[in-house]
Amino acid sequence: MTPPAIVVLGAGALATARRIQALYSGSQVHALQGRVEADVAYAELRAHLCDLYARGTPVIALCAAGIVIRCVAPLLSNKGVEPPVLAVAEDGSAVVPLLGGLAGVNVMAREIAAALAVSPAITTSGELRFGTCVLNPPEGYALADIAQGKRFVSDLLAGESTRIEGEAPWLDDAQLPRAESARLAIRVTPRAWDGRDDELVIHPRSVVAAVSCAGARFAAHAELAPHPGSDAQTDAGACIAALVRGALDAHGLAVLSLAALLVSSERMADPAFAAAAANLNVPLRFAEPRPEDGEPPSNLLHAALRVPYQTLHDDADAGVALALSALAIDPETIGRARGRLTVIGLGPGHADLMVPAARAALNEATDILGYETYVKMAGPLRADQRVHGTDNREEMQRARHAFELAAAGRSVVMVSSGDPGVFAMAAAVLEALEEGGSTHADWRAVELAIVPGVSAAMATAAQAGAPLGHDFCMLSLSDNLKPWTIIEKRLRHAAEADLVMAFYNPISRARPWQLDKALDIVREYRAAATKVVLGRDIGRPGGTLRTITLGELRSSDVDMRTMVIVGSSTTRGFANGSNGGEWVYTPRWYE
Ligand code: SAH
Repeated sequence: MTPPAIVVLGAGALATARRIQALYSGSQVHALQGRVEADVAYAELRAHLCDLYARGTPVIALCAAGIVIRCVAPLLSNKGVEPPVLAVAEDGSAVVPLLGGLAGVNVMAREIAAALAVSPAITTSGELRFGTCVLNPPEGYALADIAQGKRFVSDLLAGESTRIEGEAPWLDDAQLPRAESARLAIRVTPRAWDGRDDELVIHPRSVVAAVSCAGARFAAHAELAPHPGSDAQTDAGACIAALVRGALDAHGLAVLSLAALLVSSERMADPAFAAAAANLNVPLRFAEPRPEDGEPPSNLLHAALRVPYQTLHDDADAGVALALSALAIDPETIGRARGRLTVIGLGPGHADLMVPAARAALNEATDILGYETYVKMAGPLRADQRVHGTDNREEMQRARHAFELAAAGRSVVMVSSGDPGVFAMAAAVLEALEEGGSTHADWRAVELAIVPGVSAAMATAAQAGAPLGHDFCMLSLSDNLKPWTIIEKRLRHAAEADLVMAFYNPISRARPWQLDKALDIVREYRAAATKVVLGRDIGRPGGTLRTITLGELRSSDVDMRTMVIVGSSTTRGFANGSNGGEWVYTPRWYE
């Protein structure tokens, strides 16, 4: 489940919010800017709630139910994903589930109410009567048809009884009106629902489909599902999915009974299988068959399945084999996943300036690597997420470590500050892959992605106005990885070319003289009145922004947490009436 957003309007709700936060790892407290400080700041409640709702993020709002209802009301007619939405009284005295009955809102209401020692305001009749939401089976089970489900529950509410066929352990404690001879039946089965309206069919995700490479080729040749206007990979994926659907169909099995698609580890980087799994809406898992496992594709089932199963379908020619287990199978236990390595940038510091894709990667991560300070900034993390903060300080070593973890099937996130591609880990990760990839085929199979972030120069520039509004360059003044002579040469060229310059790593205890030398060079080309912007800890607590001139600038004004932007000949400034400071900008034109 996506961790919920706990939304507060004022400081009075913060204590209750933190108690709720403790229940949901990875959850964050969102607070109204200017009123109260928490994990995420928002500017306007209505826009923020709509945004969360539209993204499918569960919402726990610590304010009047009416406010929440009015805010999201315009979105309700649009039937799509409906995340759980709850209103909780500021003081924790009332918990009201509002929306998301099928997404588990009542379960959340019970959890929160239990933690706050109050009774949840459950209003769902079926749930009240039976003590559980019959239409919301637990993880590993899927309802065959929601409309039929609703009819079925209203029949029960009208006084009918039901039989239960199959294994439904979560219904053991439910107060359902049961009778062996009942006309109605709750049927827990992998078999497809045949449309009878006297039964509620729930599918356990208990079938695994293994596809061999021959199967993929067969599907492509047979053109099982040509899709006009889509790309080749999506097409190939749709063909493989159609092959699997055909095999399930031949046995009367529902597609919703599928727990996972299984293929050989050799095909890990093949996008067609990923597209097939996405098409079937199941996880893609991988196995390495041993010689004693037999022929493909059923050897994949032998290698990957750790529960007793029955081979239902083994069509070596078509390249698809089906395994059926008696109970739902946790896909995490089948073979292994394709490992992932995502290199993200946190932005300058404040959570608001982290792109949502980076937050999503963090939520999905099993392992997080990076400098300890950055890993802390990336939090709050869940207790089940492993942090490799202090393992090693050397960047190449850390990059290799990330590949080793990802190659073992972990979901790894490497954190940088700002943008990961600007003087940060993305280049080190690619260097490690280029060097190590030839000897480590498993590193090449890792799903590698780089998520951009707001770099310190952008964050500083935005606060100052628009000093990067015309041509500019970014330079690191650190001579740790490049000779100082190169830095001098670049400074000269950039200064002469009249580019605005953003200096990263301007100074440190180990590099005390370099900044003065750099400024001497720049002063040969730029007037003393040239605008300089100094941003320190921008987007972090205690951040400061100063505008001075090149003539005034001293290296003692700068430390390693400072971004130095040196203007060009056209960079100018004027009073910013609202804060007594100055707006600095570089016009877009040039004479
Ligand atoms: N990848 C980072 C840069 C890493 S180099 C990015 O894109 O921002 C580290 C340098 O970035 C620091 O020495 C400092 O010059 C600058 N920097 C990083 N975060 C900053 C912040 N919040 N405020 C000001 N400067 C920052």
